[in-house]
Amino acid sequence: MPLNIAMDGPVGAGKSSIADAVANRLGILHLDTGAMYRAVGLACLRAGVRLEDEAAVTAHCGKIHIAVAHGENGQITLLDGEDVSGLLRTEEVSMAASAVAKYAGVRQAMVALQQALARETAMLVDGRDIGTRVLPDAPLKIYLTATAEERARRRWLQLQEKGGKDTYEDVLADLNRRDEQDMNRAVDPLRPAPDSVTVDTTHMSFDEVVDHIAALAEAMRG
Ligand code: C5P
Repeated sequence: MPLNIAMDGPVGAGKSSIADAVANRLGILHLDTGAMYRAVGLACLRAGVRLEDEAAVTAHCGKIHIAVAHGENGQITLLDGEDVSGLLRTEEVSMAASAVAKYAGVRQAMVALQQALARETAMLVDGRDIGTRVLPDAPLKIYLTATAEERARRRWLQLQEKGGKDTYEDVLADLNRRDEQDMNRAVDPLRPAPDSVTVDTTHMSFDEVVDHIAALAEAMRG
């Protein structure tokens, strides 16, 4: 089994960009599992499947094919062979991802895929249930977090840079809604694995976080 690292945490903790930087530093791949749930959400939106209808969502998930590839700019997420990476970051797809991720059938399919990928290659895997479900034996598990206000502030600044019109209050409300859904669902809710290391980034710079996690990984690799 290759040495894998699990990274979980709430919305906007910076998991994706931190995971990219740490994986790069360590010379391993970064698997963004959120993108996989986003692709399922996108597929349901496109097909007009009602997101509240568990049976319909699960049936649709069984008909589509999700795959990932790793290119020069990181992960490419494929939905039935189409590169949908550029379509996954809207608020609509974020909420759809969180809605479909509640369902056991969807989770089973995604977890099996993620475990198969991690069995082949050393990876830093980020998501919500990586330390608790996908890779419970990972030798290093990180729980990356920050206060909701700080996470919302960072996300709002990013959106502003892209010309977004959302207010800080809108961003904070969306983030709280998605966290609430992810933390309170019946199947594999977001929570720190008992043996995870919590990294609270509220008062840390991006580089400090990357250095800290890379050092933990290097210590683990001996
Ligand atoms: O990490 P990201 O924000 O891209 O994830 C989108 C949504 O996918 C999350 O809000 C969560 O509902 C779901 N997700 C999950 N389990 C994972 C990764 C993501 O339930 N391992």
